[in-house]
Amino acid sequence: MAVLAPELLEKLACPACEHRPPLRLQGDYLLCDACQRAYPIRDGIPVLLVEEAVPAETVPTAQESQS
Ligand SMILES: [Zn+2]
Repeated sequence: MAVLAPELLEKLACPACEHRPPLRLQGDYLLCDACQRAYPIRDGIPVLLVEEAVPAETVPTAQESQS
């Protein structure tokens, strides 16, 4: 489970959406609710690249990853 500082998370925005919506932390990914993309967090660094994004539905929820 990635840990990001809340103040950093606040500054991050989806690079694929023109209105730059905030991202939601889920497991090791940052999710955009607007376009349903999930951006990976590698070694604690969010990779906010559209080419690196995966569909949000492929990211396990926190509940699923615990089992
Ligand atoms: Zn987006």
